[in-house]
Amino acid sequence: MTVATALKHIQEPEEINNQSDYIAYSKSVHDYSPAIKRLFDLSEDYVPGAERAFQEGKSAVWCQGFNYQPALLYALDVLPVSYGEMGRYSDKEDMLIAEDFYQFPVETCSMVKCAVAQWHKRIHSSTIKRILGNASSCEPFNLAFEIMRKYGYDVYNNEVSYRGPTVAGDRLEQLVNFTIEQMLDVAQWLTGERAVPEERLRVEIARKNRLLGKLTKVLELRRTRPFYMKSLAIILTLNVGLNNYFGKPREYEEAIDELIQELENEPINEKDLQAVIPLVWAGGTGQEFGIYEAIDLAGGALLGLRSAPFRLYREDIPPLESIARWVYENSSAGAGVYARNVLDAEVDRLKARGVILYGYIGCSFASVDREMWRRHFHDRGLACINLEGSFQTGAPTGQVLTRIKAFVELLSA
Ligand code: SF4
Repeated sequence: MTVATALKHIQEPEEINNQSDYIAYSKSVHDYSPAIKRLFDLSEDYVPGAERAFQEGKSAVWCQGFNYQPALLYALDVLPVSYGEMGRYSDKEDMLIAEDFYQFPVETCSMVKCAVAQWHKRIHSSTIKRILGNASSCEPFNLAFEIMRKYGYDVYNNEVSYRGPTVAGDRLEQLVNFTIEQMLDVAQWLTGERAVPEERLRVEIARKNRLLGKLTKVLELRRTRPFYMKSLAIILTLNVGLNNYFGKPREYEEAIDELIQELENEPINEKDLQAVIPLVWAGGTGQEFGIYEAIDLAGGALLGLRSAPFRLYREDIPPLESIARWVYENSSAGAGVYARNVLDAEVDRLKARGVILYGYIGCSFASVDREMWRRHFHDRGLACINLEGSFQTGAPTGQVLTRIKAFVELLSA
C-alpha cells in the first residue's frame, strides 16, 4: 500500500485524547510499514514489558535511560527502564498527586510531576523499586529522587557531570576519570561489586556502534523518502529506542533492519522531494505527542534531530573509558554548545530550512540553551520557532497549531 492510500484510512486526529491514542493513530498512519508498527509496539510495551520481566525475576531499575546508563546496565544484566516513558500513563490526576500530596509547585515541569505520581501509584505494588537518578538532570528531578527515597524507593543519584564550553586537556581527562569512577559506583550499588564485566561491556559498545551506523542510514534514506516515517515515529525510534532499545535490544535491531529494507524498497517520489520542508528538531522527547502531529499536518518533515548519531564509541581503548569519552563528546556533554554542534551538523547535512526549538514550561535550564541557540541560528540566517509545551491529554492547543502552521507556511513561501 502506498503512503497516499494509507492516509485515506487513518483515524481522525480529533478522536485523539491521550498519548496512547496518538500511538494507535500513528500506527494507522503507518499502516503500510510493518517495521514502523513494530517499533511503535516496542515503544508501547517498554514499561509494561520491563515490569513483567521484573515480576519474572529479571533485575531492573528505573533510570534516565540514556547517556552511559543503558550500556552499563545491560552489561551488568540489569534492565534499564526509562522513567521518562511513564509520562504516557499520566493524566490530570497525576498532576494533582504531585501538587497536592507531594506539594510540588504548580509551575514545576510536568515531566517531573508525571514521574513522581507514577512512582507514587506503584509504592504498594511489587514492581521495580530501585531508581538510578542522574544529578545532572535538573533540580526538580533531584528533588523527586529524594522524595521517592523517603517513600521507600532505593535511590542512587550519581554526581553531576558537566563539561564546560572550553574544557579540554587535563581537565577533560579528570572528567573522564571521574565518570569511570561514577560508573563503578553504580555497579557496586546494583551488584555489590565495584566492577563491570569487560567483555559484556565491549559487546554492548559494539552493539551501540552497529546501531548508530544503522540509524545513520535510516536518516540518510529519509532524506529522499521524507514522508515515509513521520515525526513521532522517528522521535521515539531515535530518542528512546536508540538509547535503550525499549528494553529489548535484539527485537529493536531486527525492527531497524526491517525498516532499512522498507526504505530501500520505497521508490523516490520527485513530488515529495519538491514539497518537503526539511526541519531540525532541537528538543528532547516531548510528552506532548500532538505537537509532532501538528508538524506533520502542516506539511513539515522532521528530518534532522538533536539526537542524531554524532560520534561512534572507540573500540580501541578500555570499554569504561570509551563510554566516558563518548559522554563528553556528544550533545549531552554539558554546556549548550555541545548540543548546538550536533544541531549545526544536522542543519548542514540537510540544508534545513528551519529549526524547531521545543521545551517544557517550567524548565529554566533548557530555556537558556534555547535562547542561545535561537540567536545562533538567526545569525546563520535560519528561521526558528520556540515552542513551549506541557504534558497534556488532549490534542495540541489551537495556539500551538496556529504557530506551527504559520511557521511551516512561512518556510514554504
Ligand atoms: S524539562 Fe527541564 S525541568 Fe523538566 S525534567 Fe527536563 S530538565 Fe528537568
